[in-house]
Amino acid sequence: MSEDRAAELAASLAALEVRTAAACAAAGRAREEVTVVAVTKTYPASDVRVLAGLGVRDVAENREQEGDPKAAECSDLGLRWHFVGQLQRNKAASVARWAAAVHSVDRVRLVPALELGAERAGRELECFVQVQLDPSAEPGRGGAAPDEVARVADEVAASPHLRLRGLMAVAPLGADPADAFARLQELAARVRVDHPAADAVSAGMSGDLEQAVAAGATHLRIGTALLGKRAPLR
Ligand SMILES: *Cc1c(COP(=O)(O)O)cnc(C)c1O
Repeated sequence: MSEDRAAELAASLAALEVRTAAACAAAGRAREEVTVVAVTKTYPASDVRVLAGLGVRDVAENREQEGDPKAAECSDLGLRWHFVGQLQRNKAASVARWAAAVHSVDRVRLVPALELGAERAGRELECFVQVQLDPSAEPGRGGAAPDEVARVADEVAASPHLRLRGLMAVAPLGADPADAFARLQELAARVRVDHPAADAVSAGMSGDLEQAVAAGATHLRIGTALLGKRAPLR
């Protein structure tokens, strides 16, 4: 690990913290209400190690094939791994081995596979139901349609080794993120009627974390602002 890279990551983490704290202050929220999850996809385990040394505790990956070995390489760091990518049913059980939380539960069919994986891994897996907020999105782009959210949430809540944490969404490209996150909060409030403990909302990325915090997000998923621009092709 070059000292330059370590200094770069320290600087971007400090800048991100200033941004997050300012967003919380502007929204009248306590900084502790918001968890920053560092999305380390495409970046090496050595970067994860530096971030851990700087105090980062929550890290995320979006592909099973990349997250599994990276989590293994960093198993001595006591990190909490999150899975934020599109999940295939045949990968669900393996994700449950290394991830503590899955932000992308978007269909009922995934739930039994996650439950089995969590049971085998001997853990309680935290689950966020991902919502597709773009009505024009093609099916399969990730996220349950808003009217399917309750069914997925009920299914998760009924699974003994899964814990329903709340909802997750990505703001649609070209839309006002404040509007998108407001809709997400409405859907989250509806889920909380039946599942009061599902009080988390995973929303906000490098470009829209302020709007997400203003709308009440509890988890920010931050890649670029922390690690830099990713190489294209993903
Ligand atoms: C990559 C990714 C992020 C991080 O996005 P940035 O814009 O780089 O901060 C957040 N959420 C998901 C689901 C991602 O795949």
